Amino acid sequence: QLDARTPAIQVVLVPFPAQGHLNQMLHLSRAISARGLDVLYVTTSTHIQQARHRVQGWNPDHFAIRFHELPMPSFSDPQPDLENKDHAFPMNLIPLIEALEDLREPFDRLIQNLCFSNLNRIVIVHDPLLRWVQTVAAKYLAPAYIFSCVNTYYSAVKEKGIGIPECVVSEKRCLPERFMTWMSRHHRAESLALATGYLVNSFRGLESQFMDELQEIRREHYGEKPLWAVGPLLPQSIWTGKKGNSDVGSCLRWLDGQAPASVVYVSFGSTCSLSRQQIQELARGLEASQQPFLWVVRVADNARFTALDEARMDWISELLPEGYEDRIAERGFLVRNWAPQLDVLSHESTGAFVTHCGWNSTLESISAGVPMVAWPQHSDQFANSILVAKELKVGVEVKKWTNADENELVTAEEVQKAIRRVMAEDEEGMEMRRRAKELRDAARTAVAEGGSSWNELEAFIHHFTSILNERNPTE
Ligand code: UDP
Repeated sequence: QLDARTPAIQVVLVPFPAQGHLNQMLHLSRAISARGLDVLYVTTSTHIQQARHRVQGWNPDHFAIRFHELPMPSFSDPQPDLENKDHAFPMNLIPLIEALEDLREPFDRLIQNLCFSNLNRIVIVHDPLLRWVQTVAAKYLAPAYIFSCVNTYYSAVKEKGIGIPECVVSEKRCLPERFMTWMSRHHRAESLALATGYLVNSFRGLESQFMDELQEIRREHYGEKPLWAVGPLLPQSIWTGKKGNSDVGSCLRWLDGQAPASVVYVSFGSTCSLSRQQIQELARGLEASQQPFLWVVRVADNARFTALDEARMDWISELLPEGYEDRIAERGFLVRNWAPQLDVLSHESTGAFVTHCGWNSTLESISAGVPMVAWPQHSDQFANSILVAKELKVGVEVKKWTNADENELVTAEEVQKAIRRVMAEDEEGMEMRRRAKELRDAARTAVAEGGSSWNELEAFIHHFTSILNERNPTE
């Protein structure tokens, strides 16, 4: 039935509009577009702005992503309260997820138009938090794939219905009751059952065992559906590294002047705000570690304030211990707001990463071969930290979490000790660095032509292409 008049397949990608979800889907868009397919990236206005900004730095020869903007619905979005200890889980998440349901109508119109112009040759890839995307896809009979932004280990233990081993805090603090209720009310299981298949941003060399387990659980519950591991979805620069790239930003210039593998990079991503008390302990711990450090000090993004607002962070100094910036000026570099994290991690001066273990940060650190001090805050981050420290052995946990940790304050001494362990020239430290390099090479091989993730992306494309090609164009 296919002839020269058959329109091209349109791949529509719909990320959840938060930093950690946006990057991954953007890199997936690029990878699909680089295989010659038409890609439309659909999200809210603020995030389109950020996505365009990111894409500007990429070599445009190999891909072409088109953007479609949906209006940002209004929702309750308070600034984090730094005096309140119970702030780890982003309070604006559920209101945001719910508000985004208003986008169903404009999204429906978009898909209707695309179906008309592309003779129903539409395929949709979406974030699992946007279930309404799936209902629109079903209405237009478009194959719809769920793209998971978290690790497979986490999904496997969650879907098995068991707690994460040795992760007591995660159960009581990281996924609050309210979120769990919300998830079950919104039929996560139904959503998994409706999907045409699943994509994960990970690679076989990292989590093969958990991928098999996850697929087995889903097979039992939802029938036979493919699962493809297509990650890590990152730019090549993570492997090529930055040396002396001084025009990219002052923190990279500063890194250029440091000894190889000596700097501790500290960042908690875009959805976490540490309390005032915790910031002070961290500050003292970094000072006491005697290592050079590069610390991104910021509060969580919200819809009004995002990484694009440079001016809002002047007050950060007030959160630090008295006279701190003068004392550490020789050895420490503070970034207010946003660091070019991929460039920092792949810089030869970076020796360790103190991280909240967001899945992006974890994958980026693994791909850059940088060992981690794992300091999770909420959601999947506790599972990621266990994966890093216990399963993969490319880092240490900042502390042993117990049920008794009511406010989970990490002391300056715990920070200092964990940094020392990762940077140490002893057997443990050297083994962690060896593992980190090994996994970095495995990640690079997975996404290179002929690697496991490369092949699985091909298999995914083949899957939807076959479905659409076998269809009668008028169907
Ligand atoms: N990031 C960055 N600069 C910063 C902080 C974060 O480039 O100063 C990027 C980081 O590289 C990662 C993303 O923002 O790609 C954060 O995602 P992650 O999953 O680690 O955490 P989240 O922000 O979702 O909590």
